[in-house]
Amino acid sequence: MSPELEHLIRLQEIETKAADAGRRLSEAPERIAALDSTLAAAREEVDRAKQAIADNQTARRLIEKDLAVVQQRQSKYKDQLMEVKTNREYHAMQTEIATANAEVGKFEERILIGMVEADDLTAKLKTAEQTLVAEEARIRAERSVIERDAAEMKTLAASLAREREGLVARMPRNVVELFERVSKGRHGLAVVPARDERCSECHVRLRPQVFNHIRKNDQIVQCDSCQRILYFVAAKPTETTSA
Ligand SMILES: [Zn+2]
Repeated sequence: MSPELEHLIRLQEIETKAADAGRRLSEAPERIAALDSTLAAAREEVDRAKQAIADNQTARRLIEKDLAVVQQRQSKYKDQLMEVKTNREYHAMQTEIATANAEVGKFEERILIGMVEADDLTAKLKTAEQTLVAEEARIRAERSVIERDAAEMKTLAASLAREREGLVARMPRNVVELFERVSKGRHGLAVVPARDERCSECHVRLRPQVFNHIRKNDQIVQCDSCQRILYFVAAKPTETTSA
């Protein structure tokens, strides 16, 4: 293979790796932000569960206050019942006591419902707290993987840039320019293999004469269709099922 083609192939490898490193590096902040928002959501869930418990307690305390008022009334009526003089007064007091009893019953029921709710809310808080602990551990680990990967990509990008600089310096200017022109127009992919008499990227069938040139790997040949620089790679021997 001509050194020119070898240089072009290596240049392409460097550019592809550098582009990949750059992409992974640029994705890191977004991936970390996504982890942070997952963590924030888990924290909010715990805060919400705590708030629900506090609300439940406040509501129960209010009911307990109302209950105490009715209970006071209830015992006052019971005392008064002992002192009534007439049958009519007795019945009136009985009615008042029955009303108070019913109210006490209602408040007690609401307190009971509140207590059952409190049990549920406590269980929810426990689950939310466990989830938060697990998420914190997972996110800490994922974050350090992303940060380590980003640091590696930075180092790799720097070393690829150095290698590219050295390589380009050894290549004829017009060849570098051709590479850059094709690369720009083809999303960074300027040098590709030809296989089975086709351009491996745009799959156009190459004329036999063109393919014969490519086979020799001793000159720069561009694909008629996509303009990419082609080099020859022998097709892998196909496995035959028959003997
Ligand atoms: Zn092509």
